[in-house]
Amino acid sequence: METKKYKIGTLCVQAGYRPANGQPRVMPIVQSTTFKYETSEQMARLFDLEESGYFYSRLQNPTCDNVAAKIAALEGGVGAILTSSGQAASFYAVLNICSAGDHIVSATNIYGGTFNLFGVTLRKMGIEVTFVDPDASDDEIKAAFRPETKALFGETLSNPGVAVLDIERFARLAHSHGVPLIVDNTFATPVNCRPIEWGADIVTHSTTKYMDGHATAVGGAIVDSGNFDWEAHADKFPGLTTPDESYHGLTYTKAFGRMAYITKATAQLMRDLGSSQSPQNAFLLNLGLETLHLRVPRHCENAQRVAEYLAARTDKVAWVHYCGLPGDKYYELGRKYLPGGSCGVLSFGLKGGREVAIRFMDSLRLAAIVTHVADARTCVLHPASHTHRQLSDEQLSEAGSAPDLIRFSAGIEDADDIIADIEQALAAE
Ligand code: PLP
Repeated sequence: METKKYKIGTLCVQAGYRPANGQPRVMPIVQSTTFKYETSEQMARLFDLEESGYFYSRLQNPTCDNVAAKIAALEGGVGAILTSSGQAASFYAVLNICSAGDHIVSATNIYGGTFNLFGVTLRKMGIEVTFVDPDASDDEIKAAFRPETKALFGETLSNPGVAVLDIERFARLAHSHGVPLIVDNTFATPVNCRPIEWGADIVTHSTTKYMDGHATAVGGAIVDSGNFDWEAHADKFPGLTTPDESYHGLTYTKAFGRMAYITKATAQLMRDLGSSQSPQNAFLLNLGLETLHLRVPRHCENAQRVAEYLAARTDKVAWVHYCGLPGDKYYELGRKYLPGGSCGVLSFGLKGGREVAIRFMDSLRLAAIVTHVADARTCVLHPASHTHRQLSDEQLSEAGSAPDLIRFSAGIEDADDIIADIEQALAAE
């Protein structure tokens, strides 16, 4: 499919799987771990990466590849892979270009799981991270870079604070230090923002969220823009620009050009570490993707209505963060990067703080308390008590998640009903 020719809605429905004459109209689930070949010579060529083809679903599977191709088309990348979770996507996106002794710079207000992955687990592996306030000045962010820095990382819309990342500025900062910008685009989705168009080099997703959209399958994706010139910074990225002994001395940049990064992620990381997505989950993800362009605007409309309602309830509500609200700190950045709407998630605090937040949430009837977000059903979470429970109040504030913060994920129900539910829960206070 000539993906550049089509608009986002068409790509959501039709990119990826393209049946040939007489093949199933609906993308089949290739529920097979392995693939058969006539000769051992043929199989050997696949193992040497001399030919492309399937041999084992830990590395590649046709169902997963079709869905990855759809996500690559949606983001405007040259290639993508699916991973077993968003966490695996963030991990591999970094590990693909970092090893012990290396360093990354990351926005501090990222999802708590990613914050831990970077600050604790990567550190244990010898990869250091410096967290920076994404709204700090250029000079402050530049000061975080070191000679061994290999990437800059941020979220288009931070979870849970829904701060908008100045992607163009972050791309400039990364590129002026000869490293790629990795952007987690989970909350915005390519329907609302395509970070590659603003200079991001690698895009990651927790497909568990809006892309699936129905809370059925945990998954992730990594998209390669193909734009970063690894050879121009060859000394920084030897894993891509020098021979890989585990592939008979093949050099990814020479063998795969603009597909070097994403090919290495499959050939090396999936081979050695697994974390592939199951074909069943990829099938469910694809069903979600087929309606992504219809659901996302509804999520945004509902969140906007909820944000406006909460902002007007100054008797009970202490603050609301939603970049669609005029006067919000991120309103202007939102207009630049997310002109069609941001996402269904907003955050707010109630007068009375943490205790009142917990009581309010317990009084909701339609909105469910779940460890999830970006679902068709409205849901709510108190990060300080749930996802970010392991963080101190100080770390919570650094991560853009104040102790009283309620993360509200507007679903695609009728906005009137969502608001009525909030109203009755506020009245119960
Ligand atoms: N990135 C963001 C922005 C998230 O919100 C999440 C999960 O909430 C993740 C990554 C991790 O994704 P997963 O839960 O699919 O592992």
